[in-house]
Amino acid sequence: MAKIQMTTPIVEMDGDEMTRVIWSMIKDILITPHIDLKTEYYDLGLKNRNDTDDLVTTQSAEATKKYGVAVKCATITPNAARMTEYDLKEMWKSPNGTIRAILDGTVFRTPILVKGIVPYIPTWTKPITIARHAYGDVYKNVEMQVPAGGKAELVYTDRDGKETRETIHEFKGSGVIQGVHNRDESISSFARACFNYALDMKQDIWFATKDTISKKYDHRFKDIFSEIFENEYKQKFDSCGIEYFYTLIDDAVARVIRSNGGYIWACKNYDGDVMSDMVATAYGSLAMMTSVLVSPDGIYEYEAAHGTVQRHYYKHLKGEETSTNSVATIFAWSGAFRKRGELDGLQDLIRYADALERATIDTIESGIMTGDLYAISQLENKKKVNTEDFLKAVGERLEQML
Ligand code: NAP
Ligand code: MG
Repeated sequence: MAKIQMTTPIVEMDGDEMTRVIWSMIKDILITPHIDLKTEYYDLGLKNRNDTDDLVTTQSAEATKKYGVAVKCATITPNAARMTEYDLKEMWKSPNGTIRAILDGTVFRTPILVKGIVPYIPTWTKPITIARHAYGDVYKNVEMQVPAGGKAELVYTDRDGKETRETIHEFKGSGVIQGVHNRDESISSFARACFNYALDMKQDIWFATKDTISKKYDHRFKDIFSEIFENEYKQKFDSCGIEYFYTLIDDAVARVIRSNGGYIWACKNYDGDVMSDMVATAYGSLAMMTSVLVSPDGIYEYEAAHGTVQRHYYKHLKGEETSTNSVATIFAWSGAFRKRGELDGLQDLIRYADALERATIDTIESGIMTGDLYAISQLENKKKVNTEDFLKAVGERLEQML
């Protein structure tokens, strides 16, 4: 059969360790037999980031802006141990942070559900997607530990030097203070990214803050979301049959637990940090969590939510067998192919993306899975396979489906 043709390249960001090993296996076993693959390749492996003074990361993000769709392998964020391991010139910044800053995007994380893996909340029969605001609040804070007997004030100096003051607290004893901020522009981008993604997924979107307590700060988030929704999205939501739902964060948590899933939950930065780990864990496995960065102007970068699976890589280097889960990385590729297909009007590419995901899920539901899932699956006929044999099993199913 003739291979599927692409018209625009996908930006391909290669990465590190075990996920880099899986990356090339996915291409060899699942992609290139069926697709005449067109990518613009950037090697974000730590060695090449160091060799290029991290320019490659910026270049890959710029290319993503140009083409609109990227797929990224997990990458090492260097720490002290990596400095010696890779003999680095500098402790390069997190590539995800760099890319997110250039694309000004919002990250959406969605679990992949399969039969046999029952969430810790058994009523969660559909996925909950977490959208986390990636700017400001406590992540850009200024803090002080203060001695007894002073006054803390909030001071804003305007362009002309005029000051506005509010007393935070008059300290009798010692204590701590913290200043945080956010920007209307960043909140607006976040709101638009969320509403666009909801339309894309045809799912309701929930948003929550603590506006009853934080009557200016959190209330600003609520107002910006509401204004943008009413002015730009209400009609589109109505015709799509989806809803924007706002509530208080504690009420949201209670409703999420009682829900069946199937919606997007937009969270402020800190809430998103905390809730995404809770949701990922409750659905069973970090290796089954996909992640997509969406910019307000509709640029998409797909990846797995997990890291480079370092422990498995060291086993692999010693020649030992590994059983590493490739599902989230497969879904990063299928997400990128589907989006490329939609943008370029390539039905074959969309069908391939659907088939690849179906083949992956069917393989697991037929009982063939990697060790992480084997440990939690409730299927009776389950069988644990190694990293490569899992991909081959998916490949055989995919062959039949296409
Ligand atoms: P990790 O790579 O996500 O792995 C943590 C543990 O989770 C693994 O040791 C493994 O548990 C389990 N796990 C994660 N993904 C798995 C998979 N696909 N299949 C099977 N098990 C999986 O996190 P980490 O070890 O903390 O970080 C390793 C490196 O990844 C770091 O250098 C970090 O900077 C980087 N990182 C990158 C990204 C990204 O690029 N988006 C995100 C997070 C971390 P067991 O060992 O118990 O089997
Ligand atoms: Mg976290």
